[in-house]
Amino acid sequence: MATMFSTPTTATTAEIVSYDPATGQEIGRAPSVTAEEVRRAVARARAAQGEWAARSFAERGRVVLRAREIVLAGMDQIASLISRESGKPVAEALAMELVPTLDLMRYFAHRAGRLLKPEKLDLGQYNLMGRSSEIVYRPLGVVGIIAPWNFPWAIPLGEVVMALMAGNGVVLKPSELTPLTGLKIGEVFARAGLPEGLLAVVTGEGPTGAALVEAGVDKIMFTGSVATGRRVAEAAARHLVPCVLELGGKDPMLVLADADLEAAASAAVWGAFANSGQSCASVERCYVHESIAAKFTARVVEITRRLKQDVGTREGTDVGAMSSERQLCIVEEHVRDAIGRGAQVLIGGGRGAAGQLFHQPTVLAGVDHSMAVMREETFGPVLPLMTFETEDEAIRLANDSPYGLTASVWTRDIARGRRLARHIEAGTVMVNEVLYTHGIAQTPWGGVKDSGIGRTHGRLGLLELVSPRHIHTNRLARFHDLWWFNYTPQAAELFRGLARRFTSGSLLQTSRLLPQMLRRFRERRG
Ligand code: NAD
Repeated sequence: MATMFSTPTTATTAEIVSYDPATGQEIGRAPSVTAEEVRRAVARARAAQGEWAARSFAERGRVVLRAREIVLAGMDQIASLISRESGKPVAEALAMELVPTLDLMRYFAHRAGRLLKPEKLDLGQYNLMGRSSEIVYRPLGVVGIIAPWNFPWAIPLGEVVMALMAGNGVVLKPSELTPLTGLKIGEVFARAGLPEGLLAVVTGEGPTGAALVEAGVDKIMFTGSVATGRRVAEAAARHLVPCVLELGGKDPMLVLADADLEAAASAAVWGAFANSGQSCASVERCYVHESIAAKFTARVVEITRRLKQDVGTREGTDVGAMSSERQLCIVEEHVRDAIGRGAQVLIGGGRGAAGQLFHQPTVLAGVDHSMAVMREETFGPVLPLMTFETEDEAIRLANDSPYGLTASVWTRDIARGRRLARHIEAGTVMVNEVLYTHGIAQTPWGGVKDSGIGRTHGRLGLLELVSPRHIHTNRLARFHDLWWFNYTPQAAELFRGLARRFTSGSLLQTSRLLPQMLRRFRERRG
């Protein structure tokens, strides 16, 4: 397999450097792949794709399962690499990146064939006319995947597996902050025996991603910020290249008065501070019923106080470093803005002691929707708490956002939770859960409003990676269609009858047209 890391050409003039955000040390370098090399990678993937698409699902699945064995065998080294490049604790790299992808690899390796089985359509009365229709799912060709740094393994790897299982070639552009993890994905598949050129990993900064959108791919799967997502969508539109956009979030958590307070408090802390709050589905706003707010807040602060913040590769670390100075500055700005507008810091509030790129897990009270911390994506370890009185108010607050990725409702009354969930504008609403459904291979992932367009994961996600083709068959071709030429007065009268009776969907009504139909057949023959 030709990954750009293994076959850099002389046209590669620059490199990107990968740093450990917790220590500032250089981890390694990767080529900054040029637009010309990206085009060549797409061409190579296209050349390899035909033979790959001709293989059965079982054959493709065997390669994915071999890759899975390689990941399992190298699990600890991979988790350590993810931790060093992104700053997250090794334990979290295992739980939130390795476990879900190992599960996803098994699932799609075994299930893609069944999920993409040709589908027969019910054509109603047309079936009685000897017609049948089926949908078959063909691979798209070459899929371009552009990935962020916050889940540098799980996000791109999951999409690579789904795209390959659907029969596509893939060119992956990992984030410039985590290029080595991206290259690792290429290496795993190369060792698993993927056909040469079918998967390429093109490392680089924004321009390499922009070049991929322009390089003649058949679809772009983009995950990243709203601002970049808009640019990608505009560029893709110019080439009529479809794209899936997985963008930002400002996910609300609603804690109703009857919630299991202990579980909800722990969930809020994990949902807000896992990955240092740098998850698109982090709990970014927490609304608590006023009757339990004091107790809930006290528990949240207590649990937060026990968290151990340190370098991600040290054992026992709960909260690691943030991934970049730029992101940390946004977090500081949101906290500053909130304090300036009257919010109180209950714990945390500034940079952590562990090193340069650490921000303390921070709990804020007294917040409102005029503050940036309640309106814009913070993407850091900040948990703002706000109270509500009624269900309607809670829903109004949850929906008062340009984003709609995930949300959660906490209540002991499951039926009530599900009822509320239907009123919340989000791609996923969880009842008594937070954050984790990206890790379930079977469930669709994606947002509404500014959180994006399209889905990944589950059958809906797999369908984004294929082209549905409709095959229509007429088994009674010797009876010429009644609506073909020529349009005699008798024909026009029959068409009026069809309009009135056939379109009612009732066989009885249509049967009343039989004499007219027979006349039309005779007229044709004569
Ligand atoms: P980003 O938008 O800065 O970058 C994402 C990727 O796009 C990177 O690989 C980058 O190099 C590339 N890129 C930059 N400019 C480009 C251009 N003009 N054309 C094509 N590609 C370009 O995002 P980020 O900072 O890496 O990631 C954080 C963001 O991602 C957050 O907003 C977060 O919410 C979002 N995110 C969303 C999901 C989701 O599933 N909805 C998941 C994870 C992260």
